[in-house]
Amino acid sequence: MVAADVRADSETPAGVAVRTYQVRTYGCQMNVHDSERLSGLLEAAGYARAADGQDADIVVFNTCAVRENADNKLYGNLSHLAPRKAGDPNMQIAVGGCLAQKDRDTVLTKAPWVDVVFGTHNIGSLPVLLERARHQRVAQVEIAEALQEFPSALPAARESAYAAWVSISVGCNNTCTFCIVPALRGKEVDRRPGDILAEVTTLVDQGVLEVTLLGQNVNAYGVSFADPDVPRNRGAFAELLRACGGIAGLERVRFTSPHPAEFTDDVIEAMAATPNVCPTLHMPLQSGSDRILKAMRRSYRAEKFLGIIDRVRAAIPHAAITTDIIVGFPGETEEDFQATLDVVARARFASAFTFQYSKRPGTPAAELADQLPKEVVGERYQRLIALQEQISWDENKAQVGREVELLVAAGEGRKDAATARLSGRARDGRLVHFDAGGADIRPGDIVTTTVTRAAPHFLVADGPVRTHRRTRAGDAHAAGRRPVTGVGLGMPGIGAPPATATTDCSTSGCAL
Ligand code: SF4
Repeated sequence: MVAADVRADSETPAGVAVRTYQVRTYGCQMNVHDSERLSGLLEAAGYARAADGQDADIVVFNTCAVRENADNKLYGNLSHLAPRKAGDPNMQIAVGGCLAQKDRDTVLTKAPWVDVVFGTHNIGSLPVLLERARHQRVAQVEIAEALQEFPSALPAARESAYAAWVSISVGCNNTCTFCIVPALRGKEVDRRPGDILAEVTTLVDQGVLEVTLLGQNVNAYGVSFADPDVPRNRGAFAELLRACGGIAGLERVRFTSPHPAEFTDDVIEAMAATPNVCPTLHMPLQSGSDRILKAMRRSYRAEKFLGIIDRVRAAIPHAAITTDIIVGFPGETEEDFQATLDVVARARFASAFTFQYSKRPGTPAAELADQLPKEVVGERYQRLIALQEQISWDENKAQVGREVELLVAAGEGRKDAATARLSGRARDGRLVHFDAGGADIRPGDIVTTTVTRAAPHFLVADGPVRTHRRTRAGDAHAAGRRPVTGVGLGMPGIGAPPATATTDCSTSGCAL
């Protein structure tokens, strides 16, 4: 879970208390970025972020339906808030995100003290729904079946002064059998390139040095433009990367996530030819067995995946390649699992996010008969972890002695206080803890230093900092300023059908 941080005073200049909010975020980067928008919307509506440890007047749960037991955890957390709500009728609770999109009215059946339920397609409705619930003393449930407004058109209160997410698309046209995203986020909708570049430029103008282009399947970008005036363009993602290369002051461009089935060489060429595109690629493998990939309905095969990696490495020799892997998909045999280990050994990922398969209600794979026993999945998982840890460590050891450029980060080094180090990310995404030598180096600044030691999950640079560049991002971080984006930058509307709104008095007692 990612909790909102302290940012705003909850008193107006006139001393009148304003209502405070807290957003509790679960799940993926999409949700983290959606939460920035929820915060931006609430601040635009006059609410102030609650200070750490302070009970907020409004608690918003931005939920995830992907994790196992996500619903139990949500309803447990809602139960914890029930006594507070009973003692303070002005307090409000809102539930949004993938689980809300999935459970809809059920949220109120299970937690009738909730005030607002909203879905993944209509996060812009939150302030209005809160107001309506407060005035009418009636719980509001509004779940849209299709996107109401491209989310980037909404105001966003960004968490970082130096790095920012920028959505290029929402939804997904694929049908991976383990994934709930298509059901909850809908078909892919692509944003106009001009809107994306305008948002990136606005962020850079406010000091941001790094952007991560965000989509469920960035390689499909260009085939699902919402705006009929924008022609389909299979090369749109490569063109977008190259266009980002022309934005003065933008030092680092990353993207997540590409899909191997649609990965084309023009993207590799654009990555290699665009100096501010970072030498890193996160590309989900999921399984190394062609048979399991087919059962997952992922249309590439292991050799194709490895071929992409070879071509990326040929074009960008020091690229750090990372991945996602699911162990124990239904029907996975020891031979299938061995195929995954073989691909992992050949691919030499810098790191991997590894998951033990577990049923996600609402996905086709949850209905498959040949679910594996937990012990089998757990044992395979341990073998995969052991192999990947060794590879990560070996790959990191190869970094020792290299000079790295770091974008200094806040909150990346849990032991920094104890070790008197600072932390930052290298251009290839590796985490480096470094000795700042007592210099006044701020998050958002750029340093260069030399790697002196490797661990499986991080590098250490205990030599002197070679160069230190104070940046506008560092100034902004030090001053507590965060970039603001949204208004007027996105698509005004995409002709989506109206939301199906319901109001439920009987259950209210009055979202992945
Ligand atoms: S491509 Fe990604 S988001 Fe789309 S269905 Fe597959 S796993 Fe889910």
